[in-house]
Amino acid sequence: MDGGPVPGRSFGECEVCCTVFEIQVPEIAKPAGIPCQHLKGGCAIYDTRPDVCRHLLCGWRLIPGLPENWRPDLSGILIYQITSAEPGYASAGFILGLARGLAHLGDVGVLGFIQNMVKQRVPLFLNLRVGKGEARSTFLNRPLEPFVAANDGNGFIAMLADIIQEKQLKG
Ligand code: SF4
Repeated sequence: MDGGPVPGRSFGECEVCCTVFEIQVPEIAKPAGIPCQHLKGGCAIYDTRPDVCRHLLCGWRLIPGLPENWRPDLSGILIYQITSAEPGYASAGFILGLARGLAHLGDVGVLGFIQNMVKQRVPLFLNLRVGKGEARSTFLNRPLEPFVAANDGNGFIAMLADIIQEKQLKG
């Protein structure tokens, strides 16, 4: 993630970041979950867009190992880096947005990404409604660690499914 954007990966038609995030600068001033006023089949002020937009790159643009087909608008997966203060874990972690809920558990790439983060003690927080008012993301590492340590794939998936269903029930 320190090397800048992944070469050859571009936003294309993706407008997820311009919709899901709250942006406070006066020329945009938008709440989370609402499309930016400048979105008109792409950014209408792209050349003069504010700095906050220039730095708004999701994990798919920044992490070389992620699959090409994880572009957020195509996959429902939105990853972005955050700082974390979870004791005993790395200070840089990720929010993992899974807009399609349980359906993502059929993607071995998603399962492998989560397992790797848990193994490396990189804090990972699950959010099913990124930018749409979900009050709290769920810290995934702690409940999944026993299953990763035991190499128990079925238990790992069952625990993830429980976490997703509980979040869906809470809305
Ligand atoms: S100004 Fe352009 S880049 Fe920034 S949020 Fe709006 S549409 Fe996206």
